[in-house]
Amino acid sequence: FDDRDGLIWWDGELIPWRDARLHVLSHGLHYASAVFEGERAYEGHIFKLREHTERLIESGRILGFEIPFTAEAIDAACKQALAANDMTNAYVRPLAWRGSEQLSVSAQATKIHLMIAVWSWPNLFGSDRMAGVKLGMAPWKRPHPETAPTRSKAAGLYMTGTMSKHAVELDGFNDALMLDWRGRVAEATGANIFFVIDGKLHTPIPDCFLDGITRRTVMALAAKRNLDVVERIIMPEEMAQATEVFLAGTAAEVTPVRQIGELMFAPGPITQMLLTDYEALVRTSPEQVQATLAA
Ligand code: PMP
Repeated sequence: FDDRDGLIWWDGELIPWRDARLHVLSHGLHYASAVFEGERAYEGHIFKLREHTERLIESGRILGFEIPFTAEAIDAACKQALAANDMTNAYVRPLAWRGSEQLSVSAQATKIHLMIAVWSWPNLFGSDRMAGVKLGMAPWKRPHPETAPTRSKAAGLYMTGTMSKHAVELDGFNDALMLDWRGRVAEATGANIFFVIDGKLHTPIPDCFLDGITRRTVMALAAKRNLDVVERIIMPEEMAQATEVFLAGTAAEVTPVRQIGELMFAPGPITQMLLTDYEALVRTSPEQVQATLAA
C-alpha cells in the first residue's frame, strides 16, 4: 500500500506517496495516540466534510490534544489532497497523531501531526455487497465509556475491531457484529447497524460507540420516507425478528446484511429504498445535501 504514485498532504505540504514515511519512535504507533476520519468524495464533493472535520478535531480533544489546524484549514486540506491526486470519487483518510519528540506514556512534549491520504476504495465490502454481507459474532465487546474514549474515532479502539474481524473471517464471514459490554447489540467493526422489525427501523442507542454520520443520514432519509425510526436497546435474541438488516457507514455506505451467525435475512425493499436514497443524496452538491435533509 505504500509503494504507489500519488500525493499525501502532511502538515501543510504535499509529499509523494512513497516518501510519506514516519519515524518508528512515533508516540502514535507505540501508545495509539492517534485519531482519524474516513470520508468519501462523490463527484468531486466530500460528503459532509465539515461534520467529519469537526469529529476529527473533537476526537483529538477527547484524547487530550489539539490538532494545530482550524476546521477551515482541514476542510481545505482534504479538498487539496483530492484535487492533487486528480480524484473525484475517492475515500479520504485524515489522521492526526502524536509525533516522535518524546517517547513515554507521558507525551506532553510531542507535536501533533496531521496527514490526509486519498485513494480509490469503491466499497468496504466490494462486489459481494449487494447480495448482502455475512456477519459473525465478534469475540470482543465494545467497552464501557469509562473504560475507553468511545466517542472518539481513536486508533486504539480499532485494535479489537481488527481482532474480531480476523476471527470471523476465518469462518467465512465478511465482518463481525460487536455487542457492548452489557451484551447488547452495538455495531459492526466499521459501520453502524439497522434492523427492520414490524416495518419500522430499529437501531441501537450509540452510548458506547460512534453515532455515525451515515447512521444519522440514514435516519433522516428514513424520516423523509415516513418510516418510523426507533433508537433503543437491542438484545441479540431479538435479531431473529428482523425482516431486513443493513449496515451504514462511510466506507460501507448502505450495505444489506444476509446473515448474522446462524440467522439468515434477505435484502428487502426498505434497505433497497434507503440505499437508493443514500446513493442519490451523496452525489448531489453540499448545498443540495443540506436542503434535502432540512426539508
Ligand atoms: N462505527 C465504527 C467503528 C466505524 O469505524 C465507523 C466508520 N467511521 C462507523 C461506525 C460509521 O461512522 P460514519 O458513518 O461516520 O462513517
